[in-house]
Amino acid sequence: MTMSEEISTVVAPQVLLGNHLKALKLPTFAREYEKVAMESAQDRADYPRYLLRLCELERIDRERRNIERRIRLARFPQTKSFDTFDFGAQPSLNKALVLELMRCEWIDRRQNCLALGPSGTGKTHTALGLGLAACQKGYSVAFTTAAALVHELMEARDERRLRALQKHLSMVKLLIVDELGYVPFTAVGSELLFEVFSQRYERGATLVTSNLPFDEWTSIFGSERLTGALLDRLTHHVHILEMNGESYRLATSKKAQRRSAHGQSQTPKTSNEGDPSTKT
Ligand code: ADP
Ligand code: MG
Repeated sequence: MTMSEEISTVVAPQVLLGNHLKALKLPTFAREYEKVAMESAQDRADYPRYLLRLCELERIDRERRNIERRIRLARFPQTKSFDTFDFGAQPSLNKALVLELMRCEWIDRRQNCLALGPSGTGKTHTALGLGLAACQKGYSVAFTTAAALVHELMEARDERRLRALQKHLSMVKLLIVDELGYVPFTAVGSELLFEVFSQRYERGATLVTSNLPFDEWTSIFGSERLTGALLDRLTHHVHILEMNGESYRLATSKKAQRRSAHGQSQTPKTSNEGDPSTKT
């Protein structure tokens, strides 16, 4: 008797099978094979059909796990999709273009997207929705704000790991930089951010949201020369989403106030929710 024969007579086949499936990274097989075996016996499905059912379940589950992993790695502050987005409330937003961008071909083509408009018009929501769509379609995504990114770059530079961070930032298929324009950068911060955009130029897709129109970007980057070079790269292959309607927060809190003014029992939302000066 060989050793493996000896083991297999001592250890239950279920245990061995469990080990093999674990080593082969087939958790759904391990979890489902007994149940599917009973179902297949009932349906008189033959062995190939039994295997096929298990393979299908494993692939569906694996795809779901991969999407979840990409969403985790993207570090979205919240998960939002277009399922909860009311296009009617933002008529200035080009819905057809958003639907087109959701298909993610622009990411394959390494193009850019700029979402521009004042506070509360749904720029972050749109960025989150497009980021989620990209994760679901198999693209790696990184979500950050401009201020956090600059902070992270400066910290990495101080700790002598700037190259590693730059490499990571240039590899991701879609980089989302939210809230460009709320905080002006130092000269070093501007340079570092410029380098990120520069390294991604024609190598990866970048989505930027900003409350500032282009002609005011110099005020955040300080240097006119640098702003010009940056805009040049960013806008070479670009889709622009203009969102110039009313603040959604403002509109919903106004609506709530109107309701309560008409004597309905509804309490208005917290008043500062509608304050357009509150940064988002
Ligand atoms: P911005 O980033 O432009 O300041 P946000 O995307 O943060 O605006 O939107 C503010 C809030 O209003 C968020 O909670 C967002 O989900 C919601 N919101 C904005 N526009 C819409 C819309 N058209 N439909 C549904 N919710 C919206
Ligand atoms: Mg925002």
